[in-house]
Amino acid sequence: MSFDYEHLIVDIPDYPQPGVVFKDITPLIASPEGFQAVVSQLVEHFSAAGATKVMGAEARGFMVAAPVAYALHAGFVPARKPGKLPRKTLTENYALEYGNDALEIHTDALTPDDKVIIVDDLIATGGTALAQLRLIEQAGAQCIGMGFLMELAFLHPRDLLQEHRALDIFSLVQVN
Ligand code: IMP
Repeated sequence: MSFDYEHLIVDIPDYPQPGVVFKDITPLIASPEGFQAVVSQLVEHFSAAGATKVMGAEARGFMVAAPVAYALHAGFVPARKPGKLPRKTLTENYALEYGNDALEIHTDALTPDDKVIIVDDLIATGGTALAQLRLIEQAGAQCIGMGFLMELAFLHPRDLLQEHRALDIFSLVQVN
């Protein structure tokens, strides 16, 4: 299956701050064919991985991770910004491409039996993905892969994840 993802991804210069070129994926997921292609290609890639859970980070990650979880017959775990989850949480602080933040999951969202795939719209520095990986480790579960619509390879996110080299990291679009 091949789909021209890039013609539906819009570059927004100097957003959200000067010097950053933001990749706006909303036209791609607004396209029925585009959204189908994104979800089905990620699902196809991970179909034999045996995932029990898919984790997606607030907020853009939810849009891609939740349909992938559904199609893989896996559960969905939202990784949310601090203070959004109502019960006891595990927390990881991380550096963003622009700024710092933290992500949380409920302490009982994962068990040691869980095999988890992290899915997000985009990986830039890799900080968000690494924070999710550490949340999975804190919970005693296992991360078995990561899937992204887009990878900003020129920011070398895989370098940040190099301790986890054995992981299956899969991106539909690489920007060099
Ligand atoms: P990272 O932590 O630097 O890898 O940034 C990835 C996270 O920031 C993802 O959750 C993305 O949704 C968001 N993000 C960073 N840059 C962009 C962009 O250009 N377009 C859309 N989302 C972005």
